[in-house]
Amino acid sequence: MNEISEHFQCLIIGSGPAGYTAAIYAARANLNPVVYQGIQPGGQLTITTEVENYPGYPEAVMGPDMMVDFEKQAKRMGADIRYGMASEVDFSTHPLQVKIDDEKWVSADAVILATGASAKWLGIPSEEKLNGRGVSACAVCDGFFFKGKEVCIVGAGDTAAEEALYLSKVCSKVHMFIRRDAMRASKVMQQRVFKTKNIQIYWNTEVEEILGEQKTEGVRIVNNKTGEKTVIPVSAYFVAIGHKPNSDFLKGWIDMDETGYVKTQPGSTKTNVDGVFASGDLQDKIYRQAVTAAGSGCMAALDAERYLSALELSTEAESEPAMDSSPN
Ligand code: NDP
Repeated sequence: MNEISEHFQCLIIGSGPAGYTAAIYAARANLNPVVYQGIQPGGQLTITTEVENYPGYPEAVMGPDMMVDFEKQAKRMGADIRYGMASEVDFSTHPLQVKIDDEKWVSADAVILATGASAKWLGIPSEEKLNGRGVSACAVCDGFFFKGKEVCIVGAGDTAAEEALYLSKVCSKVHMFIRRDAMRASKVMQQRVFKTKNIQIYWNTEVEEILGEQKTEGVRIVNNKTGEKTVIPVSAYFVAIGHKPNSDFLKGWIDMDETGYVKTQPGSTKTNVDGVFASGDLQDKIYRQAVTAAGSGCMAALDAERYLSALELSTEAESEPAMDSSPN
């Protein structure tokens, strides 16, 4: 048995657009939500620059500022927002149990999972050095800042294909680096990429280094068959080699697909565990936008509210004295 240090009606794990939106709705529904922000308070938007495609910000907004606004709004509604990350769960009993920071166990009647996903990077030091200065893992977020410029993208899946096509409409030329001699993307996406005149594909090619000090100025690539190295001048480097959902701490309890994305019941945010709901990028590998994550955070709070109302009704029914129907 875990020793429980606190009990909450509604626990929200994660603080990106999904977590904060769930918090706003749950607080307004008097569910007294407690949010544990996780390792990166504010989520992936805190590592982007300007966000121009979130409705309601006609002049655009910096990603980190937007997440401060989300947090303020959730707090104003009454959400209790705390530092700390969920390190383990025990969903064998109700209330549901969650371990925070590997230290203390808390319990909750309903849990909303909103821990998001993290972009995968090649892991070369210059990615970190120039992050936000022409290095990005989101073409839809940042491509527009390189309007009319030459850019490059690494990856060969559907995301890379989709992002290369997006960039081809905004930028003058897209250099696409593919590590094998084939693309993983679906045939239809491959055909679109091949037909696009300003996308140049480099097969069997890996990026060795991103060049530039204060901003991205080029990349040094290597052909992994011939060993030939080439420098290509570009203003931006996009990486699209997949995302990893932050779901490791849920393994063994929550149903996931083979890549770790949490499975939800169609048309809802319900998971396989009663009272546990999933929202945002943790359960969405297709859209992955701030606005879709926020939308699913709202859905999770509404699902949690319905679940908690039903739970309350059944608890009340259990505690009412049985009616004596025998004649006196
Ligand atoms: P994927 O895992 O499908 O593809 C990742 C790509 O990155 C692969 O081509 C892989 O190369 C490459 N890659 C991985 N590591 C490296 C590395 N270190 N260096 C160079 N290249 C690397 O991820 P996606 O994000 O593209 O897609 C995830 C899922 O989402 C897929 O199921 C996809 O079909 C789906 N999706 C669907 C969309 C749609 O239907 N519209 C849109 C976007 C995604 P390699 O092939 O050599 O392994």
